[in-house]
Amino acid sequence: MAIIHSTPVFTPAGDFVVAPSALPALWFLFRGDGLVVAEKAGLVQMLPATTLDALELQPRRLHLLGSLSGLDCYAGELAADAPLAGGLTSVNVRTLFGHIDDDVFGVAGTALQVISWDRIHRYCGRCGAETQRMMGERAKICTACGLTNHPRISPAVIVAVIRDGKILLGRSGRYPNQRLFSVLAGYVELGETLEQCVHREVMEEVGVGIRELKYFGSQPWPYSGSLMVAFTAAWDAGEISVDGDEILEAGWFGPSELPLVPGWGSVAGQLIDWFRQTYE
Ligand SMILES: [Zn+2]
Repeated sequence: MAIIHSTPVFTPAGDFVVAPSALPALWFLFRGDGLVVAEKAGLVQMLPATTLDALELQPRRLHLLGSLSGLDCYAGELAADAPLAGGLTSVNVRTLFGHIDDDVFGVAGTALQVISWDRIHRYCGRCGAETQRMMGERAKICTACGLTNHPRISPAVIVAVIRDGKILLGRSGRYPNQRLFSVLAGYVELGETLEQCVHREVMEEVGVGIRELKYFGSQPWPYSGSLMVAFTAAWDAGEISVDGDEILEAGWFGPSELPLVPGWGSVAGQLIDWFRQTYE
């Protein structure tokens, strides 16, 4: 079974407060929600440190993320209207999959989450005073009441349910591409185990009972501050009855009759690929 990001090439930093060195590094700088990359002849790459001055980029809210193959990786934020020199462009992180090294892509996702977290924790959620960064750990502490905030992730489950050699796929009204079908997924509720969540989501969305739940793998999903935990399961009881809200249409599909489905870059795509290889 596949587990994404299983190779520990990236080493998280020991202390996240930054005093940038003059050594070569990789910079993950955001302007608004876009990541700034260098683009030449259709090829994109992260910004090497030595060019930052020349490019007149002055990131704020700097974070040391860690080290990737010996190169320090920093995340930072540019002013929303910061001009970009020729050859630079800002892009949606998600669109970079397959265009940059997978490990670099993973760090870009981490950078996106760190910058988003920092941006929305500038003030204390309890008393409203300003927060400041803590030394030695990725956290922000309130200058007035001492409330500490670490980055949080919202776990979500995703499951490939199999019945008689066919996979359960649904179409959601929330997908940007309305022709896309995928495996079912949902956020874990407070007080719920991952396993309970899978059973509940499948029952709520399509009215089907499942058994033989097995862990498949996991994938950070920074676009929604989540960690996707993937499972496989077997159909147990019930016929498909969509909720008409989250899922508009669902069905059982054989390996040779799959509709438009997500690509390999998502754990959804990996689950569907696993099904195709196992059952064809
Ligand atoms: Zn406070």
